Amino acid sequence: LQDGLQSAFKTLRGQGRLTESNMREGLKLVENALLEADVSYDVVKAFMQDISDKAVGQDVLKSLKPEQQLVGIVNEALIELLGGDSDPTLHLKQDVTVLMMCGLQGAGKTTTCGKLARLIGQDGKKALLCAADLQRPAAVDQLHIVGKSVDTPVYSEPGATDPIAVCQNAVKHARENGIDVVILDTAGRLAIDEELMQQLKTIDLKVHPDKAFLVVDGMTGQDAVNSAKAFNNALDLNGVIMTKLDGDARGGALLSVKQVTGVPIKFIGTSEHMDGLEPFHPDRFASRILGMGDIQSMFEMAQREFDQEQVQKTQERLQKGQFTLDDFRKQLNQIARPGLMQKMLGMMPGMGEMTKMLQGGDHEKEMRRLGGMIDSMTSVERNDPKLIDNSRRQRIAKGSGVSPQEVNELIKQFDSMASLMKGMAGGGMGGAMDMMRK
Ligand code: GDP
Ligand code: MG
Repeated sequence: LQDGLQSAFKTLRGQGRLTESNMREGLKLVENALLEADVSYDVVKAFMQDISDKAVGQDVLKSLKPEQQLVGIVNEALIELLGGDSDPTLHLKQDVTVLMMCGLQGAGKTTTCGKLARLIGQDGKKALLCAADLQRPAAVDQLHIVGKSVDTPVYSEPGATDPIAVCQNAVKHARENGIDVVILDTAGRLAIDEELMQQLKTIDLKVHPDKAFLVVDGMTGQDAVNSAKAFNNALDLNGVIMTKLDGDARGGALLSVKQVTGVPIKFIGTSEHMDGLEPFHPDRFASRILGMGDIQSMFEMAQREFDQEQVQKTQERLQKGQFTLDDFRKQLNQIARPGLMQKMLGMMPGMGEMTKMLQGGDHEKEMRRLGGMIDSMTSVERNDPKLIDNSRRQRIAKGSGVSPQEVNELIKQFDSMASLMKGMAGGGMGGAMDMMRK
């Protein structure tokens, strides 16, 4: 989705002003990008109507470049579509709070139970996981393993056949043992069926969970939307947790699920590990979809992963607009870890294409290729890539064994990143938003 929208905006770049005709052209590209990203047709149609209504009323902003204006409009509409002011807090009660997880088999319920328990524990509260998936023999064992990994007790009854009784007993056990939150790990099915829905409805009726969360697999596109519809019809859902949105900015399904069910997205799963659950922020997600990158998340992640001092320095240089290819080269060395690089680049503005270059192929080789190009530049060139003309480009390409186009691509990507960074100086994401609105 991100790449599609980026190329849509790129097409508009360089055109003087937002006119009736280039606006229509731009909107068509946005529409195609959304459809390609598996956002359902009805959702796209409604969304496009909303955007063109908004765009028509905006002739005041004639000083803006067309792609900036359109990005601003699309961004606002996306945030609205994704839920505006989100509220990813759990609102725990004084008494025991009961959370019910439901969803198809393999959606990520059991994993998400563990992730939530971990977050609750970090808030100084006590969670209890309840093994209510009695469909698959291994499900109870899996929950015990998950519970152990996040230091959370698991309530299960060996040989039990009635999940409703197990849930009721778990809540009773929680009351008697000073537990704050019970998380019910219910059974799933490969596809929606009446028996599954009936079981969930009965749990809902007899155990009175305070919140019912639907867990959907973000990689399944339209299937995620259909299952969300079915669960939402059967149950009174309080929130959706979309899993497997690791690294790259998919999110087509997320848009549709929110639009079709009206149920707020509460969390997104970003890895199979227990720390891979993030509160859902519509504004952050919208800017990620738009390819502006989420500078804040990037630094939050960097701070966890790298040498603090180095991070501090880089952040200062970025904000002062002094980030050079030399810094970029240092970053390459520091983040030479598979997966992490893609994740970081995916969050940087304008780096979508570079992420693609790194995907699939031999990761180490790509790092060497990028590093090699930068190494073949003189230090003057690294500090001011604008100096790199045709003959310098030829020399760098020869020196690093790549084509001149590849050198060009690297510089172009770096340029668009650096200028966006400069624009954000001091203001972080808020600054970027302001910049687009002005
Ligand atoms: P359940 O059947 O709904 O309980 O699903 P599980 O919790 O057993 O998860 C099914 C598979 O999805 C497991 O292999 C998990 O490791 C994986 N998984 C769950 N959430 C995520 C996520 O956010 N990202 C990734 N990459 N994998 C996930
Ligand atoms: Mg499970």
